[in-house]
Amino acid sequence: MSTPQAELVALAQSSLYPNYAQPPLVIVRGSGCDVWDASGKRYLDLFAGIAVNTLGHSHPRLVQAIATQAAQLMHVSNYYYNEPNVRLAAKLCALTGMSRALFCNSGTEAVEAMLKLARRHFFARGQTERYRVIAFRGSFHGRTLGSLAATGQPKYRDGFGPLGGVTHVPFGDVDAVRAELGADVAAIITEPILGEGGIVPPPEGFLATLRELTEEHGALLLADEVQTGVGRTGSFLGFQREGVVPDAVALAKALGGGFPIGAMLCRDALLEALPPGSHGTTFGGNPLASAAALAVLEVVESEGLVERAGKLGGHLARGLEALARRHPERIVTTRGAGLLQAVVLADGVNPGQVLAAVREAGVLLTLAGGNALRFSPPLTVTQPELDQGISAVDAALART
Ligand code: PLP
Repeated sequence: MSTPQAELVALAQSSLYPNYAQPPLVIVRGSGCDVWDASGKRYLDLFAGIAVNTLGHSHPRLVQAIATQAAQLMHVSNYYYNEPNVRLAAKLCALTGMSRALFCNSGTEAVEAMLKLARRHFFARGQTERYRVIAFRGSFHGRTLGSLAATGQPKYRDGFGPLGGVTHVPFGDVDAVRAELGADVAAIITEPILGEGGIVPPPEGFLATLRELTEEHGALLLADEVQTGVGRTGSFLGFQREGVVPDAVALAKALGGGFPIGAMLCRDALLEALPPGSHGTTFGGNPLASAAALAVLEVVESEGLVERAGKLGGHLARGLEALARRHPERIVTTRGAGLLQAVVLADGVNPGQVLAAVREAGVLLTLAGGNALRFSPPLTVTQPELDQGISAVDAALART
């Protein structure tokens, strides 16, 4: 007999630190795009653990890879190489056009690694005055103090200062970037589409302009692909949609398909920035996480999930646009790319209420940027499943 949901919720409420605002639901099992709570109710998961469950839940290839690797070798530390990890490094370099990979365990750590890489690159060249980073308002780069300093939203930053070394300018504003690009700037960091900021794509050509400007000024361009990477927007990296090659890339979330792993990838020119001992982490690149990520990448490749995300993204976009036409007073606009899209709710609509009504109807979504109802489903999602999600939002909006 499993424990009743109410009992587990009571245990959660008396023992977990209350830094999240969870509804009284305990998810106990998942398969494909479905999850079940402890009362046995089934939900269609169209948020994928915030853009993480690339292959849906409990994909047999991922389960098998983790089980096999766990039985063979889970952890050795970075004192030694391990086979899944070196294979993963080579694969990621091939997929992204980068030269080297450094592994960690989460998105914020991958961003920290990029920021430290940028600063130490100039330090190693004797340019110690070159440390400042330009980031964008509305961005989200993580919650450790370095990536929080880069994050451009007061709601995440307030109360944790002083957070220094980063200047925030409006997203998409080339003139503002140009005005800040002094000799002390080490790097510009950006997401290709603001994720937590509300699924906001930049104006066309913006990423390419950032590439030109950083090259002109000898600064680095850092791509935070933690939410957009591994095919979500219809290309392996969001930056690749504009044909822009950054100097370094941060990946996490979807890379392990649910198993925690992060990676920082960079170009050859940055190999001297972080010499042995200057940066690292005990768990980073362990065989178990690496085997999980390798399995994810193999399935993504063999099932053509990147192209599929692009195609299904077209279907999702059309569905959301039709939804917006049906609810002109409740939906302001729709935006995003591939399988990362949102409807932006109008001022008078209570986003939390809509989200709860959608969940009540058996579909799990999330909010981004306060008022954007985000779809970030597994890349294995089907067209009928997307349609079910759109219908649930349609019904919820009609009721609220
Ligand atoms: N960067 C981006 C673009 C993200 O969306 C996130 C998480 O939402 C992070 C960094 C931080 O990742 P993590 O929560 O794994 O630390």
